[in-house]
Amino acid sequence: MNQTFLIKYAEIAIKGKNRRLFEDALVRNIRQALYAVDGNFIVRKENGRIYASAEGEADYEGAKEALSRVFGIKAFCPVALLPDEGFEKLAEEVVRLVGETWGKDHVTFKVDARRARKNYPMDSMELNAALGEKLLEAYPNLAVDVHAPQKWLHVEIREEIAVYSEELPGPGGLPVGTSGRACLLLSGGIDSPVAGYLIAKRGVKLSAVYFHAPPYTSDRAKQKVVDLAKLVSRYAGEISLHIVNFTDVQLAIYDTCPHDELTIIMRRYMMIIAEHFAKEDECQALITGESIGQVASQTMQSLFCTDNAATLPVFRPLIGFDKQDIIDISEKIGTYETSILPFEDCCTIFVAKHPVTKPRLDRIQKSETLLEGKIEELVKTAIETTETITIE
Ligand code: ATP
Ligand code: MG
Repeated sequence: MNQTFLIKYAEIAIKGKNRRLFEDALVRNIRQALYAVDGNFIVRKENGRIYASAEGEADYEGAKEALSRVFGIKAFCPVALLPDEGFEKLAEEVVRLVGETWGKDHVTFKVDARRARKNYPMDSMELNAALGEKLLEAYPNLAVDVHAPQKWLHVEIREEIAVYSEELPGPGGLPVGTSGRACLLLSGGIDSPVAGYLIAKRGVKLSAVYFHAPPYTSDRAKQKVVDLAKLVSRYAGEISLHIVNFTDVQLAIYDTCPHDELTIIMRRYMMIIAEHFAKEDECQALITGESIGQVASQTMQSLFCTDNAATLPVFRPLIGFDKQDIIDISEKIGTYETSILPFEDCCTIFVAKHPVTKPRLDRIQKSETLLEGKIEELVKTAIETTETITIE
C-alpha cells in the first residue's frame, strides 16, 4: 500500500485565517521536496488533508526520506485510496493490502474505521467488526487486541476510501516560509548548522553568512561550509549563502587592537557585516550557534558585547544547550560527520592565548576607536567582494 501518502500536520497553531497560509506553504514545500525524488508526484489538498501520490514508477523510499524532512509534517502514512465498490470489494482489498505488509506476522491488530461520509451503509462499529473478521479468516496468525494493538488498520470512508496502517514520523515544526526570514552566521562547526535547523523548524526561511579568511582558511574549509549549508537546506529549503572575505578586517583588528580583545571585536564586526546581508535579504533577525559559557567569547559578558553590535534581534537557539545535546541533534540531522572534518576556522587562527572572559563594552568600544579611519573602507570592500551562492 504505497502509491499515495496521507500527510498529517499539527493543527494547533493554525486556527482561523492562518490555516490556509499554513496549508498552502506546506503543500508548496512538499512539492519542492518531492521534486528532487524520482517519479512524478502530485500533491493535493482535500478535505483538510494533504495527499502526495505518484503515477506509475517512483522512488517511494526516497519520498519517505524527503517527507521526513519537511517541517510542518507531524506524520505521514503510505495509504491506498480505493473507489467505493461495496463492502465485499473493500474487504478483499484490505485483506490483500494487509497480506502485503504484516498479514503473515504473528501480531495483534485493531481496525479503526471512520465514516466521514454518512451515507455509507455500515457504521464504523460494524465496519470494525466485519473487517476484523475478514482479516482473522484470511490470516489465522493474527489476533485482535482492542486495548494495545501492535498494528492499526485505519479505514476512512470519504468520497474514496483510504486504507492505511503504517504511520511514519515527520519532523514537526511549521512550514518554512510561514514565519519570516533570518540570517544564520554559519561556520564550519557543530553548533551553527544545528542553530539554523532549529530556527528553520519554526517556519523561518534562512539566509546565511560565512566569514572566510583566505589564505589562512583554505578552499576546503569553505567547501565544508557549503556542504553544511546543503545539509541544512534539506530541511530549510533554499538558502542564500553569502561568503565574506574577512581577512583584511581581521588583520586590521589583529594589528591594531589589544590581543585579549581580538575575538570579541572580530565577532562584533561579524555582526555588523552579517546584518548588512540580513537587511538586504529582508531578514528580521540574526542567528548564531552560541551557548552560554562554551568558550570565552560566549560568556554572558561577551554575549552582551556581541549583541550590542547588532540592531536586529540575535536568536541563539542553543543558548541553554550542553555540547552533547547539540551533538545529538547534529547526528540526528546528519551534519555531524561534516562538521567534525578538521579544517581551520577563521576564529581559531587569530585567537589570543588569554582572551578576556569578562569584556567590558566601554573598553571594547574604546579599543575599536583605534580602528577608525581604516576599518570602514575594509568593511565596505568585504561587503562588495562577497560571493553569494544559492544553496538548493
Ligand atoms: P560553531 O559551532 O558553529 O563553529 P563554535 O562552538 O565553534 O560554533 P564560535 O567559533 O565561538 O563557536 O562561534 C560562535 C558562533 O559564531 C557560531 O555558532 C556561528 O554562529 C558564528 N561564527 C563563528 N565563526 C564564524 C564564521 N567563520 N562564519 C560565520 N559565522 C561564524
Ligand atoms: Mg566555530
